[in-house]
Amino acid sequence: MKDFEELSSDFSRGDRRKSKSLDAAIDRILDKALVGMEVSEQDGVTLFNANQHDIKKVFSVADKLRERANGDEVTFVVNRNINFTNVCYMGCKFCGFAKKLNQKGSELLSIGDIVLRAQEAWDRGATEVCIQGGLHPKISGDIYRNIILGIKQVLPNMHIHAFSPFEIWFGASKKKLTYTNFLRDLKDCGLGSMPGTAAEILDVDIRKMLTKNKLSTEQWIEIIRTAHSLNIPTTATIMYGHIDSPVHWAMHLATLRRIQKETGGFTELVPLSFVHKESPLYKANPTIVRRGPTLDEIKRMHAIARIMLSGGIDNIQVSWTKLGPKIAQEMLSLGVNDLGGTLMNESISRSSGAEFGQEITASEMVKIIRHAGKVPMQRNTTYDITQNFDNCDPKELTPLIPRNGTNPLEFIN
Ligand code: SF4
Repeated sequence: MKDFEELSSDFSRGDRRKSKSLDAAIDRILDKALVGMEVSEQDGVTLFNANQHDIKKVFSVADKLRERANGDEVTFVVNRNINFTNVCYMGCKFCGFAKKLNQKGSELLSIGDIVLRAQEAWDRGATEVCIQGGLHPKISGDIYRNIILGIKQVLPNMHIHAFSPFEIWFGASKKKLTYTNFLRDLKDCGLGSMPGTAAEILDVDIRKMLTKNKLSTEQWIEIIRTAHSLNIPTTATIMYGHIDSPVHWAMHLATLRRIQKETGGFTELVPLSFVHKESPLYKANPTIVRRGPTLDEIKRMHAIARIMLSGGIDNIQVSWTKLGPKIAQEMLSLGVNDLGGTLMNESISRSSGAEFGQEITASEMVKIIRHAGKVPMQRNTTYDITQNFDNCDPKELTPLIPRNGTNPLEFIN
């Protein structure tokens, strides 16, 4: 297994390769992409290492492929994030969100609180709640089904997009069920789709360092494949800009593409920039761990993801919580066709040190999209268009009143 120093020197080598002109190779790869041929993992590395002259051609092809797949439509979903607990003992080294039991700021919401937040979201036009939490050592494995049942009882038409593969691994082991049986039960309760978070980088060495190998690459892939086999769609993610390099990025995208060919279950890819500020990984190794991707790398990631996943995952989403609205808007000409959710509350990125707000309302989404010269469309979780805002505006919303969570006993074993 490689250590931090070796990985960091891999990154520098990749960087040096970037300076050589790869003009002919890049033209050949981009020609392949434009006629619908697959861009290989090695080709992906070449694109990531393109020099400043060649990268403009890469961006232009990414934009063309976006236009072919999505026209001028840029979508968003009205949803609310509900992070029902921030207590977690997994100790992922990049995570600035987790707190210990009884630590100041630790929180566990009751089912009643979660349902109340879902109801508020519904009243503000949300079609989806996105629910994720830490792996609280004292919660019962039934919490996941109880959250879904609680919401569905009150809001039968709310789409529940919930629980990362890490939470599925945790819940299934608490209940001593196979992933299939655990997920089948959640689906029967009303689970609509899952976030494909906790992927980080699907490279064995990197993952071991990031997550202490609590959820291995193989387990993440197995849980995602199982969800897809049960017709539970998931998003796909990549978290980049820490101890990784272009070789890992291309490998990760090729792995997602392989899964998509088998299952067709990914709805979109969401590249997630590493936020270093509160991350234990960065705090312990500030000279080796990077402070997240550079703007240039962010552009490359969105564009090359579009090129490598073209025809497989045709929705590339930018995360405004990580990048802010201005950079998110810039990505709309670099292969991105989706601005994600309005969120209403966002705490995972903010806890890690991201500085952007908790909500972008539908009206703000529409303005961002229009100013980029695109047509704003509201969608549901699975990308069906629910409203076209080409010639009309969404209604303005009053701000949400922040709520504090309770520390209920109902989840405790
Ligand atoms: S990333 Fe998730 S599983 Fe890992 S420590 Fe943070 S909350 Fe826990």
